[in-house]
This record gives sequence, structure tokens and C-alpha cells, in this order.
Amino acid sequence: MDYFLKRKILHLFFPNRCPVCQEIINADDRFCSECTDSLKIYNGSFEISGVDKFCACFEYDDSIKPAVFLIKDGICGNSAHAFGSYLAETIQNNDILHKTDMIVPVPVSVKSMRKRGYNQTELIAETVRAKLGIPVCCAVRKVRETEEQKKLDINGRMSNLKNAFKVCSPEKVKGKNILLIDDVCTTGSTFSEIALVLKESGAGEIFCASVCKTM
Ligand SMILES: [Zn+2]
Repeated sequence: MDYFLKRKILHLFFPNRCPVCQEIINADDRFCSECTDSLKIYNGSFEISGVDKFCACFEYDDSIKPAVFLIKDGICGNSAHAFGSYLAETIQNNDILHKTDMIVPVPVSVKSMRKRGYNQTELIAETVRAKLGIPVCCAVRKVRETEEQKKLDINGRMSNLKNAFKVCSPEKVKGKNILLIDDVCTTGSTFSEIALVLKESGAGEIFCASVCKTM
């Protein structure tokens, strides 16, 4: 079923809610107006090893944290729609849309997938696909469990992710410019490691877009 039609029908039975404060909002809204006003737009520039361009929508702070926790807790609510809608605009504004052949969502481990019942980055990517028409391909898998990145320093983060990702469909990524999508980017180690395995499989340019960037 069409993405936008599905949302309209769902809204009749489960009214759309602001993913930060849970107030009921219109079917197409992302956040309520008060929460929208408190979000901090990300204006920084950030270099990630092996990545051709990075962009993000918001600074990661207390104003957006509840929506991130919601989607990571397996509830999702309106987070995926709100995040994906903003991300689609950020991608358009960063001059990477016309160069992108496909979106690859950052994969999560089998354990996280079982706990949540979904991969949140796939849901966000699905909204971006509906808005921009770029195909989504889950071409990368996380093949082993890793430590929680937030407990580690920069060197620990890089070694923690070594060989954690595998391209499961190399023929699909060969020669393609790829846009990786994630919910939160901290040091960029995850993007960097996935960019490395994609380039080893013959991918072209790698762009990365995250909903939030920690400051
Ligand atoms: Zn709100």
C-alpha cells in the first residue's frame, strides 16, 4: 500500500502523536509546534574517514532525545515518519540527492532486531524513499555483536566495529553511489566502517545522513 495512504488510514484508528511530548497532532505532522520550535538544526560540518559527504538534521540534545529513545525502545510511534521527513529535506538541501543511486540503512545486530522487532534505520529509510523516490537496499548486515559504542573512546569504537559488517549483496552495490542512513551519529565510526566494506565491494561515492549529530 502507498506510504501516505497507509499513514492516513492508520491515523483514523491510532491518532498521530508528537514523538517527543505525545500530544495528538495532525496525520502529516512530524512534531507538535512547541517541540518543533525547541529542536536545534545542525549546521556543522563533519569529516568522516572514507565518507564523501556527511549531513544531519538536528543537534542531539534533550529536545529530541525522547523521540530517539521511543524509536530505540521498539515503540517507534511517529518517530520514523518525523525523522525520515526531515532527513529527506536535509538530503535535498545537501546536494547529494541527484548523485545517489540507493539508500542503505545502517544495520543493527540480530539481538537488537529481536528486542525491537524492527531496524529503526530501515523505517526511517522507508520514509525517505517515499518522499524522494530513491530505492532502499538492505545490502549490509551486522554479522557479530559489538560492545555499546557509547561506553568506548574513539580508538575503542573503531576496533569494536572491525569486521562487524558484511556486504551481503556485493553485486547490488558495485559501481553505485550509496547513501547510508542512521538515527544518531557520534564519532562517525559506524559510518566509516560500513563505508570501508562498501568500497571494498566496489561501491562508488558514499554519502552519510543521520537524523541527529552529537555535539
Ligand atoms: Zn511535542
